[in-house]
Formats: sequence, structure tokens, C-alpha cells
Amino acid sequence: MTKFSFLGGRNRKLLLGYLILLPLPYLATFSLNMDFKGAYVAIISLVNLLAMMAFFIQFPLGSRLKELSLFANIDWNISKHKTVGKWLGVLFFLHPLLVIAPRFFASLDEGMTTIVLAITSPQLLTGLIAWVLMIVWILASVYKNKLPIKYETWRLTHTIGFVLICILATLHLTSVGSHGQFGSEFNAIWWALCTVSVAMVCYNYFIKPIKLSHRPFKLVEVNKISSSDWSVSIEHNSTQDFDFEAGQFVWLNTSGSTKGVKENPFSIASCKKDLPRISFIIRELGDYTSSLGNLKLGQDVFVDGPYGSLSLAQSKKAKAITLIAGGAGIGPMLSLLRELANRNESRPVRLIYGNNQLKQMVFQEEIQALESTMINFSQQLVCLEKTERDDIYTGVIDKSCLQSNIDLTQINHAAIYLCGPQVMIDAVKNNLKVLNVPSDKIHYEQLSF
Ligand SMILES: Cc1cc2nc3c(=O)[nH]c(=O)nc-3n(C[C@H](O)[C@H](O)[C@H](O)COP(=O)(O)OP(=O)(O)OC[C@H]3O[C@@H](n4cnc5c(N)ncnc54)[C@H](O)[C@@H]3O)c2cc1C
Repeated sequence: MTKFSFLGGRNRKLLLGYLILLPLPYLATFSLNMDFKGAYVAIISLVNLLAMMAFFIQFPLGSRLKELSLFANIDWNISKHKTVGKWLGVLFFLHPLLVIAPRFFASLDEGMTTIVLAITSPQLLTGLIAWVLMIVWILASVYKNKLPIKYETWRLTHTIGFVLICILATLHLTSVGSHGQFGSEFNAIWWALCTVSVAMVCYNYFIKPIKLSHRPFKLVEVNKISSSDWSVSIEHNSTQDFDFEAGQFVWLNTSGSTKGVKENPFSIASCKKDLPRISFIIRELGDYTSSLGNLKLGQDVFVDGPYGSLSLAQSKKAKAITLIAGGAGIGPMLSLLRELANRNESRPVRLIYGNNQLKQMVFQEEIQALESTMINFSQQLVCLEKTERDDIYTGVIDKSCLQSNIDLTQINHAAIYLCGPQVMIDAVKNNLKVLNVPSDKIHYEQLSF
């Protein structure tokens, strides 16, 4: 995910946009004829309606709607979707408890009777199913990496589950409880939101694949470039318009069909000058990335993107640029470096590139050539396994490695780009924090959602 300071301009606008959307349905209920049923009910009602709207907003956050600027920043969307999703889980878990609580304050018997009624009443069944599904689905999202299922299976069940929860929760909201009093206009608001949410899912799963199927790219290169990495290049015919910023990523589908969920996100490693060809550096990790050798040159490849907000625009005002790559994170860092080289960059540019083994370092010939052709560029290799070479830093990209490669006296005029697996990103970010690097100088892409 790309890092933004809370007060950063673009993200402040996004946050503001969502904060404006959030209370709209609740405020709309004031134009309806509603009864005041006491302060407690009013507060619970406010919390429930805000939570329900926040739940609906998760659909555009999880969709790839680059046409709508409020929803186009997929990095920001996914990071907020993950955080807000967990809080919504807590709120929805508490929802029946908070509704029933006053009955317990009246008497234990009344409280118990209400629980029995809630569990057995056919009217409350939709809410009960939505509640159980919500808890299970949120836990499945939080612990998705521990589940014994493929990522694609998780993603599909995640989507289907939440569409079901969305419909059941809307049914519950519009048919029972204190909200039922608002009648058909109130219900129309929530069914409209439910319809829009489901429509976004349908767009992503049914309409977008049709659009993508009309603009296939062709596979033009697939080569093993290290003990664990592949270089994959695709090309589109020049009449199609595809543009991107160095540092962005796309969803690649090499299955031959746009139906289903057979697509994986990869950062572009090439730069604009190479268009209509785009290239990727892909590390073998699981079933898909370990079967790249089976791809056939000339086959169709479908591309959804570009997405992501990592770009050189973030370092426009910087006086020095540091690129930090861990493993497959070299892809977007190489894209930025190639773009800087094309622009004849004169500011100091430093690449810190880490891997477990020396044989995993890719594109070394090209990077070393850039050290002599670019005005002020150098590379620091970092290798966990000890090597014979004394120009290589042995270990991981730790505090002392960062200290010796970044001019910390000028840090307020610097830009640091960071890409790699989550553990590497977390460790480097922590070390940069210890070194007092302001968070708004760090821009990162994490190789997992
Ligand atoms: C924004 C972004 C950019 C990336 N860029 C690169 C890159 O340039 N080079 C590179 O080698 N890797 C990159 N990755 C990681 C790459 O997407 C995964 O390694 C790959 O999808 C793993 O697929 P698999 O079937 O081989 O492994 P699996 O074992 O199926 O998956 C391993 C992990 O990869 C992630 N993953 C798998 N499938 C998907 C999917 N469809 N959508 C999202 N995440 C998925 C999940 O976190 C999963 O736990 C990037 C990831 C993201 C989110």
C-alpha cells in the first residue's frame, strides 16, 4: 500500500469524501416522519445506520473503480477496507447485545425472554443469519493466510458471502426494529444502497471481464532470470491505448479467459518508453507463480489496470531519491529507476536492493550500466547469505544499512520509495522511524493485500 500522511492532500480529500457520504442516509431520515423513542434508542439507531452505511462503502472500496476518482486509489481503499472491516465486525457483533441490553436492565427474565424470542422469531431470522455470517466472514478475512484454501477461493467466497450479508442485513434493517417506523421512503434509501453495492460486484465479475476480453495483450517474453524470478513481457497492439505511471501495478490474467477469478496483481517493471510492451519481474511463490514456465509465447493475456499511486510525482520536490527493494519488490523500483534514467535525472538516486542470496539479484548488468550512464546513481546490494564480495552488505536492510546509504542530514528534502513483502516493509518502516525519517517522505507498495 502506498503510505500517506493522515493530513496528506489527496488522501485528506478521500477521507473527507467518505466522511461526507457516511451520514447522508442517516440525515435523510430526518426528512421523514420519525418518532423519538428515547435517547438510548436514538443513539443505537445513529450508530447502526452509520455502521450500515460504512458497510455499504466497503463495496466501492473493494471494487476497482478507477473511473470514479473517490474510489480510484486502490492502495488506500484496500488498507482502509481492512481496518474499517474489522471495526464493523466488532460493531455488528455488539449490535444485538446493545439492542437487548435495556431489557436486561428491566429484569433478567425479560432479557432472557427477548433472547429466546430473537432466536426463534421468523421475523428476525434474516438478521440472525446476517449476524452469524458477518462474524464468520470477517474472521475468515482476518485469518485468510492461515486458511487451508487457495487465495482465489477465499476471494470468491469473500465476495459472495458479503453480497449475501448485504442483502440479508438490508432486509433486516427495513423490516424490523425501530427503523421499520420510517416506512417505504426509509426502505427505499437502503434498498437503493444495497442495489448499488451489488451492482458494483456484478460490474467487476460480469461486465468488466467482457470489456477486458476485447483488448487482449500478447505474451512476448517469459524467461527465468534468477533462481526464483521470472521476467514476463506482454505487448498490446498499438491502436489500443494503455498508459501508466512508473511504480503502478496491474492484474494479470494468463488463463486464456476473462471469466472467473484467475488474475494476480503484479507491478510493472518497465517504463513508459517501452510501451506498447510492458514487463514484470515475478517471484515464484505459490501455484500460479510457480507455473509461469507453462505459458505459451503469443497467447492472450488480459490486463486490468493500471492501479496504485506509487509514482515519481511523489518525489517532484525531493532533492534526493532512495529506492529500496526487497526480493520481487525490485519490479516497481526498476520501473522508477528506468523512468528516472530516461529523464536524465541529475538528483542523487540510490538503490538499496536486498535478497536472501546473491543469485536472486536480477538485471544486474543493466543496473550496473546505469551506475556509469546516470549522472548520480549507485546501487547497494544487501544479501542475507554471506558472499565473497566486500561491496555487498551482509544481512538484511537494517538500521545501519539505511544509515550508511541515506543522507539523513537532508532527510526533509528526500523521497524514499519502498517495495517488498510485508515483513520487509514493516521492518524497514520501523527502522526509518527510529532514524527520524518523517512518514510523509516514505512511499511504499506492499506485495500483498
Ligand atoms: C499491488 C501488488 C503488486 C505486486 N507486484 C508483484 C511483483 O511485481 N512481482 C511479484 O513477484 N509479486 C508481486 N505481487 C505479489 C503477487 O501478486 C503474488 O505473489 C502472487 O499473486 C501469488 O500467487 P500464487 O498463486 O503464485 O501464490 P499463492 O500461494 O496463491 O498466493 C500467495 C499470496 O499472494 C497473494 N495473492 C495470491 N493471489 C492473489 C490475487 N489474485 N490477488 C491479490 N493477492 C494475491 C495472497 O496474499 C496470497 O496469500 C504483488 C502483489 C500486490 C498486491
